[in-house]
Amino acid sequence: MKQINEERINNLLLSTADSDSRKIDRIINKSKSLKRLTLEESAILLAVQDAGSLEKIFAAASFVKDAIYGRRVVLFAPLYISNFCVNNCLYCAFKSDNLAIKRKALSAAEIKSQTEWLLGRGHKRILMVCGEEAPGGESNVDYYVQAVKAIYAAEVGKNKIKRVNVNCAPLSIDDFKKLKSSGIGTYQIFQETYHQKTYLRMHPKGPKSDPDNRIDAVDRAFKAGIDDIGIGALYGLFDWRFETLGLLSHIEHMEEKFKVGPHTISVPRIEPAEGAELSLRPPHKISDDEFKKVVAILRLSVPYTGIIMTTRENALMRDALISLGVSQISAESNTSPGGYSASRAEQAGGQFSLGDQRSLDEIVGTLIAHDYIPSFCAACYRMERTGEAFMQLAKPGMIKGKCSMNALITLQEYLDDFASVKVKQAGYKMIERYFNKLDNVDQDMLKFFFSHVDSGIRDEYV
Ligand code: SAM
Ligand code: SF4
Repeated sequence: MKQINEERINNLLLSTADSDSRKIDRIINKSKSLKRLTLEESAILLAVQDAGSLEKIFAAASFVKDAIYGRRVVLFAPLYISNFCVNNCLYCAFKSDNLAIKRKALSAAEIKSQTEWLLGRGHKRILMVCGEEAPGGESNVDYYVQAVKAIYAAEVGKNKIKRVNVNCAPLSIDDFKKLKSSGIGTYQIFQETYHQKTYLRMHPKGPKSDPDNRIDAVDRAFKAGIDDIGIGALYGLFDWRFETLGLLSHIEHMEEKFKVGPHTISVPRIEPAEGAELSLRPPHKISDDEFKKVVAILRLSVPYTGIIMTTRENALMRDALISLGVSQISAESNTSPGGYSASRAEQAGGQFSLGDQRSLDEIVGTLIAHDYIPSFCAACYRMERTGEAFMQLAKPGMIKGKCSMNALITLQEYLDDFASVKVKQAGYKMIERYFNKLDNVDQDMLKFFFSHVDSGIRDEYV
């Protein structure tokens, strides 16, 4: 992986072990001015052990998150369209050697009906996910494109999906162009581990066994014109400090070559997966405390990059991580293709077990109780505020005003259409509280949008 200099990472991990507290304070203060940290500075924070400095790191992460994104948290649901896969990743239930799971690839009609189920719950953003093997000998990209179209075609009342992000296998530049033209938002691909030897051990078979092809996919996606890219590492495969510096090195490479870093970073932790022995005993299991540290340090290192948390994490952990810098969370997920509407007995194999089984309504209620504004917004994508254009707004902290306004508008829509009585009451109070904090100009603008929502218009944004 030419993007990753392992020797540099190892040297940083060795040389930054014992930094004095004044140096640590200087770095924390730099991040509070919303400046991106160097790899060395991030390595110093990763080595911090003492409780006092850790508290400062956590407090700074919350400060930076609020300064850039405000109090909003974006919600999405994954939609697994197929669990067929030619690869044999040791940690994943979809691996080809796993004969224990029921396989299923959804047809366009089934994808549309799953999307309608999600729309009926109040979802507006979907992350489409699948294994690397299209059904019926179809090419991967054609299957993906057909699926994206089916998702956008779904409609429940006036509600439609606003943004489809995609997590799928690497493609060629031409195929990425095809995928982009289907109207996707972010293209997401996780390197899993940035440690070459571990990568080769974990991916013994299929196209995914080539680490260069996987990491180069990010460059190819950029070259194809997809400028919102999501990267990630699967925590538990190798040392968590190394993986975090791997992620940050990868970002350095993207910034150097394409002038823009990733739109989002994902930090999945390995969860138990049926038929994937390794997932039950991850070789480098990361503790809850170490994991919180990783999220906080990522927030400080690249303050303007979104951090995604999925339902792999349990409710308690997710609620804690939101305050440390997570900006997007999934809700009410199911990792089995067709699983949203199928009965338990009929369900095809899921990818891994979920830590958070709460309904979208419960998650919205909890966010409101913690004073976070649940958001179903996709305005940046609609207004073409993607890639560098998004970063220009995000870097000086200007996206915050737009995010909060859009969060309030989309929350009003959600409360009117989908929320339980209890969540409606708490939600309308929250909207009133935030409305009262705005200046007259913003209040007038919000009143204007709310009058549209009242008259039944949906999908408004600034
Ligand atoms: N097959 C494509 C790929 O591997 O890139 C895309 C979809 S794959 C289902 C999405 C991600 O799930 C993987 O990149 C991996 O990080 C994650 N994953 C796989 N097994 C997991 C497990 N047992 N626990 C948590 N996450 C897992
Ligand atoms: Fe297939 Fe992706 Fe699972 Fe690997 S992680 S087995 S490529 S679905």
